[in-house]
Amino acid sequence: MNAFFAPRADAGQIEPLVDGHGRTIGDLRVSVTDLCNLRCQYCMPPEGVDWLDHSEVLSFEEIARLVDVFASLGVHSVRLTGGEPLVRREFPKLAAMIGRIGGIEDLSITTNGFYLERDATALVAAGIHRFNVSLDALDRKRFAQVTRRDVYDRVIAGLQALEGLEGVTAIKVNAVAMRGFTEHDVLAFAELARTRPYQIRFIEYMPIGADDWRAEDVLTGEELRAMIETAYPLVPTEHEPHATARVFRFADGDGEIGFINPVSQPFCGECDRVRLTADGKLRTCLFSHYETNLRDPLRGGAGDEELRQVIRDAVWRKELKHAIGDEGFRKPARTMSSIGG
Ligand code: SF4
Repeated sequence: MNAFFAPRADAGQIEPLVDGHGRTIGDLRVSVTDLCNLRCQYCMPPEGVDWLDHSEVLSFEEIARLVDVFASLGVHSVRLTGGEPLVRREFPKLAAMIGRIGGIEDLSITTNGFYLERDATALVAAGIHRFNVSLDALDRKRFAQVTRRDVYDRVIAGLQALEGLEGVTAIKVNAVAMRGFTEHDVLAFAELARTRPYQIRFIEYMPIGADDWRAEDVLTGEELRAMIETAYPLVPTEHEPHATARVFRFADGDGEIGFINPVSQPFCGECDRVRLTADGKLRTCLFSHYETNLRDPLRGGAGDEELRQVIRDAVWRKELKHAIGDEGFRKPARTMSSIGG
């Protein structure tokens, strides 16, 4: 629970946000910047991408205002992402502004961990209590191969800075699983889950980056689980509603390992998520081909009710599911680096 959580005065007075398939939206992913200090192969080219102009990026006050409008519509969980959120200057100040918005019970972050050792204490003080850290390899060379940066030790130090920090309720390590790459570290990740207070989750490789995704490069959750069970039998845990991960615990002891399988076992039926991009666009699905501009009405002086109506209309048209693997599937024009996890 967000340490600064407070119920809203208008709770229950405003209709919840429901899409055209009857799903209630409760989770907002907010990309606070499209900038990132790493260059992961499956996400962006070595030279980076065309970054947003500063004037296009929402200010702290604009982000907080929009989050407050979403919270008035029943959104109770906010995840702050990027690009890499911690490259945005004074990020903990923004996190604190959001942590104090009524109705936000859960405040978390997805980060590549590079700045965690520097910012961990300030982030917890701001109200962030759950941390998702991206780490695709447990070997320095393979880490540098996939991220194009030799900063493995910084990320590990960042993770360790979270351990034992009061106020941290969850440390999750997200590893994008790719055939021919992740197999090298599968058992090492399992051992990390057994020995450190991290929930390790493998995420199936998705067609959402700037690279040439191929279905045959997807290492499925089931394959990964079978590899782990050659050494460590796993027991399924109870599945939380809306959760993207299928979480297992080790039959013989501590630790949990999860599998996020959007390609082989999509979880769209329970999806309660929408996304706000750094330039103020509402995306109703990670794989959307259209976006709704919230920044311009906001900067144009729209009131909260007007903004709520724009959001409601967009959410009503939320996609039932992604179309990966379907005839005619097209990657969205906007890539993961400016949508966020
Ligand atoms: S692909 Fe779209 S609909 Fe499916 S879970 Fe992700 S955001 Fe939700």
